[in-house]
Amino acid sequence: MIAKTRNIVKKHDSKGAAPSKDYTNPEFVYLATANARCPNAEVFIKEGDHVNLHQMIGLRHGPFFDQPIHSSVSGTFVGLEKHYHRNGKLTDFIKIKNDFKYTVDPSVTPRSDEEVAKLTKEEMTQIIKENSMVGLGGSSFPTYIKFQTNAPIDVIIINGVECEPLISADDTIMWSEPEKVARGMEILNQAFNCKRCILCIKKMKKSLIKFYEDYFKNRPGLEVKGVGNYYPQGWEFETIKAATGVQLKPGELPSKYGIMDFNVSSVVGIYMAIKEDQPVHIREITVNGDGIVHPQNFKVRVGTLLKEIIAECGGYKDESIPKKIILGGPMMGASIPNDDCVITKTVTSVIVLNDKPVKEEPCVRCGSCVLSCPTGLEPVQIMNAVNTLDKERIKFLNPNKCIECGLCTYSCTSKIRVLDYVRRAKLISKL
Ligand code: SF4
Ligand code: SF4
Repeated sequence: MIAKTRNIVKKHDSKGAAPSKDYTNPEFVYLATANARCPNAEVFIKEGDHVNLHQMIGLRHGPFFDQPIHSSVSGTFVGLEKHYHRNGKLTDFIKIKNDFKYTVDPSVTPRSDEEVAKLTKEEMTQIIKENSMVGLGGSSFPTYIKFQTNAPIDVIIINGVECEPLISADDTIMWSEPEKVARGMEILNQAFNCKRCILCIKKMKKSLIKFYEDYFKNRPGLEVKGVGNYYPQGWEFETIKAATGVQLKPGELPSKYGIMDFNVSSVVGIYMAIKEDQPVHIREITVNGDGIVHPQNFKVRVGTLLKEIIAECGGYKDESIPKKIILGGPMMGASIPNDDCVITKTVTSVIVLNDKPVKEEPCVRCGSCVLSCPTGLEPVQIMNAVNTLDKERIKFLNPNKCIECGLCTYSCTSKIRVLDYVRRAKLISKL
C-alpha cells in the first residue's frame, strides 16, 4: 500500500551529526500560559520578580491533567505578551528577560547513578510529572501518563526513524548525545522492569546503525534495529510492526502486546529529568525548506521567538514570493500565520516553503489516494461524502482512523488537498 510513496524520502546515509548552530542565549524567552491540552494557567510570579533557571513559575490546567511551567533562563519577569503558539492560536506568553547567569533554582536536585538505580517506577513517574515531561517528537502527550501503565512490558521501542522529509534534528541528537540516549534507554528498562529496549533507525543510515551497534556493546538490554526507509515508517504502528512483527489495530494501545514506545528526543528528556532533575529547556530543531536562505539545525532555548531563528538563517529567500511556514514536518506539520511564533519544547522543526499557487483539477478517480493511505481509508470517498454533506456515509467511512500523514494530498493526481476534506469529515462525524 505504501510502496508508492517511498520515493519521497531522500536516500542518504548521515555520516555524523548534521551541523547544528547554538542559539541558546536569547535576550528574552516566552513561556506559554496555554496549549492545546491545557487551555488555562495560573502564573505564580508578578512583574519585576527575579526567577531562576528551572523555577516553577506557573501551572497550566487542562481537563485531565495540569502542567508545571518552568523558566528556561534566570532573569526578570517582564509581563505577559501575545505571540502565536505552535497550535496556531494567539496566546499569552510569560516574558522573561535573560540575565545570562543561568542561576539554577535551589529546588533542582541532580541524582547520583546510585540514587537513580534505586528509583522505583512510581518515583520516576512523579519526577517526570514534576518536570513537565511530554512527548518531544511532536505529540506533547504527558510522559507520566504512559509511565502509569500496569501492563507488563516485554520490549520498549525507541523511535529514531524521523521519517518525514527535510528533518534531521533527531539524527543530530543521536550522533551528538549517545550517552544520554543509552542512559535514557537503560532508565526505561529499569522503570518497566524490561529486558529489551530497541532503538529504531532507518536502514539507509548505515553509519549511525553501526555506531550504535558498537556503542551498545556490553550494555545489556540495549539494541539497535534498521527499519524501512519509507514514509510513514515513524508512525508508531509501522515502527512497532517493523521492530516486533506486532500489527496494532486502530484504537489498540501498544501496552496490550507488552510494548511501550518513545521518541528518541523524549528518551534524552527523560534522562535529563531523572538524572539531572531538569525540565526540557534546550532542544534541537531543524529549519529547512526552499524559502529560507541558509537551512540548518539549531540547538535552541525553549521559549525563543521563531523570527530570531529565521534571522540567524539569513532570512527569507525570494522575498517577493509569499511564504508558507510549517511547524513540524512538511507532511504532518501545521501552518502558522507568521514567524511571530514561539519555539516550545514540542517544536521539532520549522519548514519554510515558497508558497507558489497550485491549481486544483477535478478528481479523475485514479485511486492514488486510496492506494497511499497507510490506515486503509478511502480518502476520495470521504471527500465525496463531505461534498454531499452525507453524515451517515462520513461516519461509515470512519475518518477518525486518519493519522493525518498527508499522503493522500501528496499523491493526488489532481493536486486536491484531500486531507483538508478528511479533517472536515472528522469534525462532521463528531457533530
Ligand atoms: S492523511 Fe489520513 S486519509 Fe490521508 S493518507 Fe494519511 S491517514 Fe489516509
Ligand atoms: S488521488 Fe486525487 S484524483 Fe485520484 S482519486 Fe484520490 S482525490 Fe481523486
